[in-house]
Formats: sequence, structure tokens, C-alpha cells
Amino acid sequence: MEEFPVSAVEALCLGTSLTISGILYYVYRKKKKTVDKLKDAPQLTLDGKLADLLNVTPGKCLQYVVIEGTVQPVSEPLRSQFQEGAVGVVQKLMLREHKLVWNGLARAWTDSERVLHQRVHAVPFHLAGSEEAVVRVLSPLEASALNMEVIHEKFHQATYGFSDIIGQYLSGEKPKGQLETEEMLKVGTTLTGVGELILDTDRALKLRPPTDGSEYFLTTADFETLRIDQENQAAAWQALAAAFALAGAAVLLWVARRYYRSLKHHWEQERLRREFETLGADSASPPGPGTSRDEAAAPLENACVICLSRPRGCVLLDCGHVCCCYRCYQALPQATCPICRQTIRRVVPLYQA
Ligand SMILES: [Zn+2]
Ligand SMILES: [Zn+2]
Repeated sequence: MEEFPVSAVEALCLGTSLTISGILYYVYRKKKKTVDKLKDAPQLTLDGKLADLLNVTPGKCLQYVVIEGTVQPVSEPLRSQFQEGAVGVVQKLMLREHKLVWNGLARAWTDSERVLHQRVHAVPFHLAGSEEAVVRVLSPLEASALNMEVIHEKFHQATYGFSDIIGQYLSGEKPKGQLETEEMLKVGTTLTGVGELILDTDRALKLRPPTDGSEYFLTTADFETLRIDQENQAAAWQALAAAFALAGAAVLLWVARRYYRSLKHHWEQERLRREFETLGADSASPPGPGTSRDEAAAPLENACVICLSRPRGCVLLDCGHVCCCYRCYQALPQATCPICRQTIRRVVPLYQA
């Protein structure tokens, strides 16, 4: 087989699906590791005994623990820009643009969102437990799953005139408006933190992103919800990875099937060629210079309708016409009978006794 068995499109499909599957599997493995670590993480009670526990721990550090407490600012809290009297320790102001974009592929308007402006403020805070025990939370913005309360949300509708509408159809973009939101981690919220707990030199307890690269969590949901959520995420990544791996396998099977078919076709052609060769070894050659003038001049009674020199040698099926020699049959531009134009499904040698 001279031609390469895999076409460019198939190679691209195969490569893409296997690459995506690999990436998804990698993400899944990472998530799975997080889930396993969460399962093993001890849940500590935030009270007066916690500092003593860390004091006797080697390195005064616990690598991955779960701790729950209420949010308290270390000094001045942040004040909400929109809600009177709301105070918090992390504040996120966002301005998002919503618009409809014409999707030529789906032939429909689809929603599109773009962050125009985002500002995040944070002040030092700690989690307070019983017996006046506190844990200072470090780098809260590095934490995953920090779901803050949306305390302000306002949609500014876009207004436009007739000329704008014309412009929108030409450009394929229709602005809907802008959404202004303020999210805040309020003082007094119960927060669950998962990370590395250390007893610092100033005898202060601190929760920080794990130094071994494990995921750092701060969530207003309880630990069980967080764990289940992470488990579901891991399962989703796994399912996606499996789906892409299956797609890759399907492409591979497709290529293998096609390759086998072309191979079979090739064998069939070979077999046929040999059959014709043995059959008409003497009569298939056109009259050469060695043949006598009389013989050359006399038209063959059963000459091939195409070359008019060799005898007709094959039966075209399904129409059954016996009209050409095998060489001319091979040279046909399309697999159709030269007499009746019916598709040639099979060709068999003509045996003349
Ligand atoms: Zn011929
Ligand atoms: Zn025919």
C-alpha cells in the first residue's frame, strides 16, 4: 500500500482527542488527590487547647487540617460601597458587560459576558472560636471555593436608537447592559478553612496555603459540602477524560477498519490481475511489429470496444456486458460500464473454451 493509512483529518482527530483526554485525566488525578487529602484531613476544634496541641507537634505545624470559626477583622473592617452598614474582610467589586453576539454557526444570538472591571480588597482577618482562640487567615485570595455573599447587584439596561439597531445587525453584536455587583465576606460569617496550620514565633496560630502544593480552601459552606462538591468535580473530570479516550478509540477503530478494507480491496485486485494474466497471457498483448500484416489488418472479431486491438476479456457485473479487455477496464476513469453506464460492482474473467 503506497498511500499512508491515516488521513490528516483522522490524525488530527486522534491526536486532539488523546491530548484532551490526557489533560482531563491529569486534572482528574489532581482533583482525586485533593479529595483523598480532604478525606484524611483532621477536623480540629478552635479552642484554647489548639495552641498547646501545636506547641507539642514537631515543627509546630500541621500540614493539612480543617478548621472552622467566625470571621473577625484584625483591625478596621471594609465597608460596603452599596449596602449601608455592611462590613466585611474581603470585598469584590465587579462590572460585567452582557451582550448578544450573532453566532453564524448556530445561526442564533447567543449570550456573552465580559468582565469590564474588577477590584478586590482584603484586610487581615482571623477565625474566632471558643475560649477566645483565634487563627489568623493568611493569603485568603489564594484560596479556592471562596464563595462570598452577593450584597449588591444592579443591572444597567443599555438604551439605543434606530441607527444603533442597524449598526448592531451589521456588526453582529447587541449590547444588553452592564451588571454591577458587590460581593463581600462579611464579619461574623462562619468560615471553614482547609490548609496548613502553624504556630508562629509570636505564639499566634496561622492558617496558610499548604507548602506541599495541596489545594487551599476557604468556604462558607461546611466541610462535608465542600468534600462532596470536590468529589463530584473529580467524578465529572473522570467522565470527561473517559469520553475523550473513547472518542480516540473510535477514531482508531475507524482507521483500522478503513485500512483493512483498502487492504482487502488491494488483495482482490491483485488476485484478479493474476487471474487475467494467466488466462490471456498470449492473447492479451496487442499486435506488435512481429505480427504479419494480414493479421494486423484483419479486425478482431471480438475486439475490445475501447482499444480495438485486444480481445474482450472481462464480464462487467451486474450489467453483464462483455465489451472490453482487462487493461482498458483498469484504465476506466470511473467504475461504470462503457456501454450502459451502470456501476461496475465486480468484474470476472471471460472464459472462452
Ligand atoms: Zn481494450
Ligand atoms: Zn453494461
